Amino acid sequence: MANVGFIGLGVMGAPMALNILKGGHSLSVFDLNPDAVQRLVEAGATACASPKEVGAASEIVVTMLPEPQHVHGAILGKDGVAEGLREGGIVIEMSTIDPQTSQTIGDDLRKRGMNLVDSPVGKTSEHAVTGTLTLMIGGEPDAITKVEPILDCMGNEKYYCGGPGMGHAMKITNNVLATTIMVANTEALALGLKCGLTLEMMQQVMRNTMAWNSQFSTAMPKKGFVGDDSPGFAIRLAAKDVRLACELEEKIGIEPRIGRAGLAALQAAIDAGYGDRDTARLMFMLEEKLGVEARQKPAMAKAS
Ligand code: NAD
Repeated sequence: MANVGFIGLGVMGAPMALNILKGGHSLSVFDLNPDAVQRLVEAGATACASPKEVGAASEIVVTMLPEPQHVHGAILGKDGVAEGLREGGIVIEMSTIDPQTSQTIGDDLRKRGMNLVDSPVGKTSEHAVTGTLTLMIGGEPDAITKVEPILDCMGNEKYYCGGPGMGHAMKITNNVLATTIMVANTEALALGLKCGLTLEMMQQVMRNTMAWNSQFSTAMPKKGFVGDDSPGFAIRLAAKDVRLACELEEKIGIEPRIGRAGLAALQAAIDAGYGDRDTARLMFMLEEKLGVEARQKPAMAKAS
């Protein structure tokens, strides 16, 4: 059993940390939010006063933070993990950040005799609770092997995407597509509803055409179609993912036409004060504007 640290105990991080505890490992935690720390302490974790303290208490530290600058600060900043972690220590970076930041942090850690494995996650907060996340892993093979027992506490589907940063490259690629599909679903359903079609009719027809995508049967029935926009996946985080993808696309020489359109829809929701709500709020905004309602009858609301 290992001494593990965990930084970032939010919607995703808290259940992931709990699953490491359930796996029998000892856990030291840090979050800016004292309530989030307290909940983990009640479950058996030890509270730390800084990421440095987490590093000093751990062989392996997991970071699950909102944005690249938070991850960079928590690992390499003042009182960061790197100041406390001993040589041979490994950080598992599981947030959604750009591959370049991931590689920069990893290079710095390796110069100090430490290592970084990137393993951002796919699926939802429900899967974080059940330890069934999809893990997109990048890094040096030896380091990956060492952290595997910790990864296994959080996910049940592992993809080895390549060297350092390749897990984050995979995640950003996944999320620009998943998020823009979500925006497109919302727009198309609003159009159909305003034309007078029912949700059931659109689903029945589209299930057999190329319009169908898994969000109609997974995320939407559990959130938007039952009127729930509690986070879930917050709009501010979805916007961050698409923004990171657009920046990377521009750098690579791709014009991010679809990404920019998705980002504009998410930004409008943030400007309206909904940044902390689930992405389901995008549908509700169109419903309110158009005077329509995309609610599924309870019997049909089950994900298939
Ligand atoms: P969240 O906002 O719910 O949680 C983030 C946590 O980090 C909060 O508890 C916050 O207090 C803490 N925090 C912020 N800055 C900090 C700092 N500098 N030091 C210490 N703690 C700090 O976010 P989340 O939904 O748990 O997502 C975390 C990451 O996982 C994000 O990068 C997100 O894009 C990604 N992700 C989220 C989902 C999802 O469905 N929510 C799914 C896959 C990936």
